[in-house]
Amino acid sequence: MADVTIDWDRCIHSGMCTTIAANVFGMGPDARLVVLHHTVTGADLDSVHDAAACCPVDAIGVAAEG
Ligand code: SF4
Repeated sequence: MADVTIDWDRCIHSGMCTTIAANVFGMGPDARLVVLHHTVTGADLDSVHDAAACCPVDAIGVAAEG
């Protein structure tokens, strides 16, 4: 289990992470990133790690809990 954080000063709302981790990230009606789940585990956690590796501005943080 891990906490997902976004560095909102860096995020450019490219939406790339929403295609890689669609269960966790989405786009709002204003075309800005929305984090759907702030705590993830299992396959969703794997997807978040993949999204973090692909984020063009390194805005996705993953911090293991406890
Ligand atoms: S891939 Fe990175 S820059 Fe693009 S929306 Fe996700 S967090 Fe923001």
